[in-house]
Amino acid sequence: VFILAIESSCDDTAAAVLHNDNVLSNVVANQLIHTQYGGVVPELASRAHQQNIVPVIDAALKKANITKEQLSAVAFTQGPGLMGSLLVGSSFAKSFALALQIPLIAVNHMHAHILAHFINEEGFDKPTFPFLALTISGGHTQIVKVEDYFKMTIIGETTDDAVGEAFDKSAKILGLPYPGGPLVDKNAQLGNPKAFKFTKPKVPGLDFSFSGLKTAILYFVQKQKLQNPDFIAENMNDICASIQYTIIEILMDKLKLAVKETGIKQIAIGGGVSANSGIRSTLKEAEAKYGWKTFVPKFEYTTDNAAMIGIVGYQKFLSQQFESAAVVSKARIQF
Ligand code: ATP
Ligand code: FE
Repeated sequence: VFILAIESSCDDTAAAVLHNDNVLSNVVANQLIHTQYGGVVPELASRAHQQNIVPVIDAALKKANITKEQLSAVAFTQGPGLMGSLLVGSSFAKSFALALQIPLIAVNHMHAHILAHFINEEGFDKPTFPFLALTISGGHTQIVKVEDYFKMTIIGETTDDAVGEAFDKSAKILGLPYPGGPLVDKNAQLGNPKAFKFTKPKVPGLDFSFSGLKTAILYFVQKQKLQNPDFIAENMNDICASIQYTIIEILMDKLKLAVKETGIKQIAIGGGVSANSGIRSTLKEAEAKYGWKTFVPKFEYTTDNAAMIGIVGYQKFLSQQFESAAVVSKARIQF
């Protein structure tokens, strides 16, 4: 089975070709234009997708060394995401499937962040069912009980900001450019995680809250700057390490509770923030510390990519879950 997968939910235009669960190509065109605005501008994102989509798909097919005629199906991101961005990918996928007379497969982006673990990669084990998925990204923070490829239940989620937003907004306060998450990570590696203490939110059950942390950081920085205008510059690494440490603690507290409540000890992380080096190492350490089996995706399958859309496409192909050209994009969808 050869699947062409297209991802265009936010600001990256991505295409991949899979042969069964093997990735033959995985191409991403990043839209750097948003950096100067400090966040993704939807109108600019959809325009850039229109420019990028044909060359990106062309590159994915060439790199995979296959022709359009060999494709078994086309998979695309149905949602959640920015409507204008989603429409570029879905319109292309529909026309392509129609022209080639092959099945069309709609994929939930959050579903794909989880099933990315089922891509066949040397050195990466696949989880077995049931497992818990912690999806941490720019728009979501969820703990999901995964019982089968298509049987997933959200058992906890953020009540306000997503963890990616917590990283990006904290970074903004520190004067770092958008998206700040990767920069906080980079600086944190050189800093002391216990240099500064930020209080953790008290949220009942398995839900999260991150908006208070951002405010706490803002007040902390403002106060310190009154005494020393160069406070941020002089303590950048320690501040980043402390912020990251607090975020990791919040995530780990909830994971421990989720394991306790469900009795499931396999944990897989997914989504852009699972690229974070501190989160990756903490999860790996949890294996010895708590007797968990943890799954950390290959780096290129953490932030938005089309290979993860392709692996869901492959699973849906096997169970014949196809759509007609009448299928619509959705800015918000549940599992
Ligand atoms: P969603 O998947 O919820 O629709 P999205 O697709 O926009 O949102 P992703 O691409 O999955 O988000 O993740 C992007 C987020 O990941 C950004 O907030 C970015 O700052 C964050 N991120 C990426 N790398 C790192 C890192 N190393 N450390 C912390 N955060 C990171
Ligand atoms: Fe994403």
